[in-house]
Parts: sequence; structure tokens; C-alpha cells
Amino acid sequence: MPCALCLQEAELRRSHIIPEFLYETLYDEKHRLQVLSIVPERDNWREQKGLRERLLCDACEQKVSVWERYASLVFKGGIALTVRQDGDIVHISDLDYRQFKLFQLSVLWRAGVSSLQFFEKVQLGKHAETLRRLILAEDPGSPERYGCFMFGLKHEGGVFTGLIMQPGKTRLDGHIAYRFVFGGFLWAMLVSGHDLGVPLNRCTLSATGHTAILLRNAIEMKNLVSFSMKLGQMGRL
Ligand SMILES: [Zn+2]
Repeated sequence: MPCALCLQEAELRRSHIIPEFLYETLYDEKHRLQVLSIVPERDNWREQKGLRERLLCDACEQKVSVWERYASLVFKGGIALTVRQDGDIVHISDLDYRQFKLFQLSVLWRAGVSSLQFFEKVQLGKHAETLRRLILAEDPGSPERYGCFMFGLKHEGGVFTGLIMQPGKTRLDGHIAYRFVFGGFLWAMLVSGHDLGVPLNRCTLSATGHTAILLRNAIEMKNLVSFSMKLGQMGRL
């Protein structure tokens, strides 16, 4: 089987689609992912252990793991970041654009090329090849393309990490986006052949390493419309 990233014939590793470190806080004491019954899309919830499939060769797995390690340090406080909270918007600066963007792109791309049923709604079309080339070249591309909106999920006052959700297709301000929930965030990844433009590009990761994260209650996650409406407000800030 050829590796999905470099296309070379190789022995393939059992690759995670959603990076392993994002599962670490997700298991309950019985080692199952938590399922949140208050979210109406109940049928979409699956208990999954790992979500892995043979996808990448050893070299490509190593390549991707560098960005995952960076992202894991960002989440666990191992990287010095500037964080400023303004109401329910958190501004984060001093991110490494290249590494964090490639982390985001690699999750989106892996979900798109995965044959697992869990990721069946992520259909990237021609963007799968564009993303593959970017990731193979370790090129994060333009901040205007494949931007990701991050929503921090709160639940009963705390940060809510115990949730993973089947990705789905949605629309944000007229753009097609794929919605992922893992690691305590809702990630809306835009997939479009057009530049993001103002004001939306003020909310996604910029070339200078700034991103805005909107904090929302996990219960409100049932529809993205309320998130979408907030984006315009975020962009003006
Ligand atoms: Zn490879």
C-alpha cells in the first residue's frame, strides 16, 4: 500500500487521524470516550478507541508528529504564549504559525483521506491533493486559505475536554467548513478556493501567530449559527 502522504510504497503505520495526545483527557475511568447526552445530534456520537488506520509511512508519521508535539505543548502549557481575555474572546499571540497551521491542516487532511466511517462526512474533493502537497512540503500555505476558527468549549464553568464528535460539514458566513470537536475545542476548518478576507481572517491563525478563540458553552454547540453570528463581531475586534 502506498503512503497517503508521500505516495511511496512502504509499510504503513497505524496512524491516528485525530492526534493521540488529544485523547489523553478524553477517556473516563472505564477508558471510554465520554458521550454528552445534552447535544441533540446524539446519533452522531460514537464511542471510539483511537480512530486509527494504516495511512502513513514511518517517515511521514515522523513529519506529522513534530507538529503534533508542538500543538500538544501549546495545549499543555509548555510553550510561552501571550494570552489576553476580552470577555468571551481569548486572544492568543506568539504561536508558531508554521507549526500550528500544519498541525491543523494535517488533522483536516487525514480526516479527508481516512476511510473510517467516523470521518465519512469530510469530503475534501480537489482540496485533498492541495493539502497533501502542502503538508508533504511542510508548507503551511497562506493564512487566507484553510483557516481554522477555534471555539473553546466550557461546560459548567470549566473547560470541557471530555468530548469527541463526528466531524460534519457546515457553512460559516457562506464558506464551506468542516466542524471537529476534540481537545476541548470546536474547530471549524474552512475549505475554499477563495481567500478568507476581512473580517474573518482576523479570527483565524495569522502569519504573525495570533488567533482568537471564542469561548462558548458546550450546550450551545447544537448549532453553528450562533457561532457564526459571533464571528462577525470577533472580526471587528
Ligand atoms: Zn510517506
